[in-house]
Formats: sequence, structure tokens, C-alpha cells
Amino acid sequence: MDLSNKVALVTGGASGIGAATARLLAGAGARVAVVDLDEPGAKAVAEQVGGTGIGGDVSAVDAMATIVGQVEERYGRLDVVHLNAGIVAGQSGIEDLDVEGYRKIVGVNVDHVVFGVNAAVPALRRAGGGSIVATASLAGLVPIPGNTLYTMTKHAVVGYVRAAAGPLAAEGIRVNAVCPGFADTPLIAAAKDRFAGFPLLSAEDVADAVGAILDRGEPGECWYVQPGREPGPYG
Ligand code: NAD
Repeated sequence: MDLSNKVALVTGGASGIGAATARLLAGAGARVAVVDLDEPGAKAVAEQVGGTGIGGDVSAVDAMATIVGQVEERYGRLDVVHLNAGIVAGQSGIEDLDVEGYRKIVGVNVDHVVFGVNAAVPALRRAGGGSIVATASLAGLVPIPGNTLYTMTKHAVVGYVRAAAGPLAAEGIRVNAVCPGFADTPLIAAAKDRFAGFPLLSAEDVADAVGAILDRGEPGECWYVQPGREPGPYG
């Protein structure tokens, strides 16, 4: 993958999968804007990859438009967007709903993708086309028992990507999702005991899948990533 003269934006880039993708994209020659709620973390990863670190809450309505504007102003264009920030919150079962957590998980996992696509499309159009990859999950393809809200939000991401892909493909903007199984990142650290004995992906495995999607994905494909198998389109 050659991304020389291209500009990429990665949300949730201070940690885990986002940080690994930022490194992968920079390694392929892109100038990378690393966005995260954790501003010092975003700046630290940006420094490693020779890019720009931006602090911000990507679930806020105007945040992605502001961030895309900052990236275009700095680098003059935008070609690749990885909408990757995500959280687990709100409940573990059905009736233990925590309303604040529910609003928060929908904000980060769903609103951010919708606002992010809307903010990125005009910039990608100005660049003559480009690619958006949203991080969904295995939970976007099949239900994960005990993670009801997380499952719902990631199904929403997969549905949105599939529905948005057709109209945008017509103007050279490709939208895909990456759907990893469990990956060894801070996101699952609190539940690590649940995964004892399970093979886990590394953040780099998922970043490599994002690279493969950018290389050869077809519009709307949602790629499943699991340990020990080549990533590829699901279904
Ligand atoms: P992580 O916790 O290491 O990284 C997530 C990053 O997103 C953090 O740096 C966090 O600060 C940032 N973030 C959270 N809320 C934000 C907000 N409102 N605004 C800006 N940044 C925000 O976790 P990860 O495992 O690297 O997760 C990345 C993505 O991968 C998420 O969408 C997650 O749902 C998805 N995913 C993870 C796994 C897994 O097992 N780790 C599996 C499938 C999908």
C-alpha cells in the first residue's frame, strides 16, 4: 500500500487498534492526524508517526466537522478516514440499563460514525475520492451475549456502512467496516479473565486488516478478522 502524498485521520488513535492503524498508515507514507479524547495520548502517538495529534470528543455533534476542517487546513487534503473510537458502557445484561451509559455508548459508537462520515465526505470529494473504514466488531455481525448495547451499536455501524456504501461509491468514496474478534487492547482489560485460554488478536492484526481493506476492499464490505485466519468480507 502506497499512501505517499495522502492524508489520513484516525479516531481513537491514542490507544490499541487506532494507534496501530496510525503507525501502519504512516509506514505506508501517509501524513496522519491522530484524534482522541485523550489529547496527550493522541499527541504522543502523533509524535511517533510524524503526524498531528488532536484532542476531542468525537461523539459531539460538530466535533468531526471541526476536526476534518483542522486536518484540511493543516495538510490541504484528506484521503483516508478510520472512524475507530469506541467504548463499552451502559449495561451488561438487559434490565441493568444505565441511561447515562446508554447515551454515551450510542454517542461514541454510533453518532461518531454517522457524524464522521458526514464530515469526511465533502473533504474526500475535494480530494477526488477516498476511503472510510469504520471499526465495528464481531459484535456487529453476531450477538455477543452479555454485551447487549455494544452488540446493538456495532450492528448499527455495519448497517450504516452497508447502506451508505452504494451512493458514495458512485463518486469514488469507499466505505467499509472492519469487524474484529477480541483483541488484546485496554478496551477488554477489565474483562480479561473472560478471555483466558481464548486466542486474542493483537491491535496490529486489526490494523493490518484495515490496510488490506484499503488495498482491496469492495464498497460496503464488512471484513471479519479473527486470530490465525486471513481477514476477508463477511457473508
Ligand atoms: P482502546 O480502548 O484501546 O482504544 C479506544 C480509544 O478510543 C481510546 O484511546 C479512547 O480514549 C478513545 N475514545 C473513546 N471515546 C472517545 C471519544 N468520545 N472521543 C474520542 N476518542 C474516544 O480500544 P480498542 O480495542 O483499540 O478499540 C478500538 C475500536 O475497536 C473500538 O471501536 C472498539 O469497539 C473496537 N473493537 C475492539 C475489540 C477488542 O476486543 N479490543 C474488538 C472489536 C472491536
